[in-house]
Amino acid sequence: MSLVDPRSVEFACSPKREPTFVRGSMATLWDEDGNEYIDCGASFGVGNLGHCNPAVVEAIQQQARDLIHVGPTFGTKAKAEFTDKLLSIAPTGLGRVFLSNSGSEAVEAALKFARAATGRKTIIAAMRGFHGRTMGALSATWRRDFREPFEPLVPGFEHVPYNDIAALEAAVDERTAAVILEAVQGEGGVHVATTEYLPAARDVCDRAGALLIIDEIQTGMGRTGRMFAIERWNVKPDIVTLAKSLAGGVPIGATLTTEAVERAFQGSHNSTFGGNPIACAAGTAAIDYAVRERLWARAEKLGAMALVGLRGLKAPSVREVRGLGLMIGIELRGKAAPVLQALQDEGVIAIGGGSSVIRLLPPLVIPEDQWSFALDALGRALRHG
Ligand SMILES: *Cc1c(COP(=O)(O)O)cnc(C)c1O
Repeated sequence: MSLVDPRSVEFACSPKREPTFVRGSMATLWDEDGNEYIDCGASFGVGNLGHCNPAVVEAIQQQARDLIHVGPTFGTKAKAEFTDKLLSIAPTGLGRVFLSNSGSEAVEAALKFARAATGRKTIIAAMRGFHGRTMGALSATWRRDFREPFEPLVPGFEHVPYNDIAALEAAVDERTAAVILEAVQGEGGVHVATTEYLPAARDVCDRAGALLIIDEIQTGMGRTGRMFAIERWNVKPDIVTLAKSLAGGVPIGATLTTEAVERAFQGSHNSTFGGNPIACAAGTAAIDYAVRERLWARAEKLGAMALVGLRGLKAPSVREVRGLGLMIGIELRGKAAPVLQALQDEGVIAIGGGSSVIRLLPPLVIPEDQWSFALDALGRALRHG
């Protein structure tokens, strides 16, 4: 029996992968035949807290009994609590938050805030960058095959090479509303910003009067060994976008910004479901759990252990191992798909990042024995690959 409904068209860029999952608990997934898998993809970073984390399940159940939805016209206790909690851990200087339902929506809000606050039109993004699939977010996304069938996209977007300060200086001027960057490019294959790049981006923006948007949708919530990756660069962005694991697996998006941007913003923006009580209750529980368990510290420790092990393999099939915390990319000389399949045959789920990169984004709660098993399985697959 297959649970995949043939009538449900997903328009994914690759065929849907087997197996079909029915249950999850922390880093473990079970398929419909009862097979067990270690999840080292965490749905592209949604699962930092693991599957069905009991703290999140409990909060959702309680909130579902109290109040499922009241729209943005009125306040709810769940939203007020979540907003306070989020701002209490936010990167310094960010005291305002707009809530939505996905990463793309968080980016759309960021782009609209930047244009409406500066009165300028141009957005500078990076080559290999990924910011989502809606028309505005897609305009900031680099990959040609994601963009081309839907053109014309939103005008005013330009892409510069990542980690190239001179190119950024040349592109940003008095017409630039914002620069949007990831601190670690995720979908682009795990490329980490250099020590100088993000501070330089801040300087370039300041000199031109442009805003700096940091997209932490994949890097946030402890993934890179800090609660937010930008903390490592000691840079204050004007806007930060969050989503993926922010509410422990429940759909959510958040756009954090400064009071200065809020004051300068001319216009209106809103969302019917944004800030809905279920997502907010899950989000409050998720942040409490991440802080209590110091998930960023686990990411730092388990990530460092993996980088040493993977670099030590010296497998001829591997071109480069990159990473920060539990965001790890293994660039191969050949295709990633056969290695991903070999891993899956051993009960380990990993994901790609471009055609030749294997990406590991395990739940930050993964037990050390499961993480070691996954890395050993990867070692075997790489040596034979
Ligand atoms: C996943 C992702 C997005 C888009 O999020 P969706 O929830 O899929 O819309 C945007 N930016 C980055 C960096 C991402 O990793």
